[in-house]
Amino acid sequence: MPDCLFCGIAAGEVAATIVSANSRTIAFRDINPQAPVHVLIVPRVHYANLAELGAAEADLLAELVAHAREVAVGEGIVDAGYRVVFNTGQQAGQTVEHVHAHVLGGRPMSWPPG
Ligand code: 5GP
Ligand code: ZN
Repeated sequence: MPDCLFCGIAAGEVAATIVSANSRTIAFRDINPQAPVHVLIVPRVHYANLAELGAAEADLLAELVAHAREVAVGEGIVDAGYRVVFNTGQQAGQTVEHVHAHVLGGRPMSWPPG
């Protein structure tokens, strides 16, 4: 998708700190971390949000979630606990229209989120 930031990161055209990557999904550190661990996981192909990805490629969504879990293991936050978030749409605060999972951890978190 032209002019999509996360397509650019997935293609290696926009710099990012890559945590891990495979043929279908890529994990990189959020540029404005909200916790000691804040990693974004995206599919290499473009879908605007969780609903579009889930409707079109449920298997790819499952791979994305599995990759989020691998990141949590690699970051050492599984035992303490962590949060996986898909902001979807304007009121939820989605700012990048390429579906992404946030993996957040490394500090206590409140619920419900703001
Ligand atoms: P959203 O608000 O859409 O759920 O999350 C978008 C996330 O992308 C934000 O947490 C924001 O900090 C992050 N972000 C925005 N621009 C960049 C960038 O250029 N590089 C990286 N690594 N993260 C970015
Ligand atoms: Zn994209």
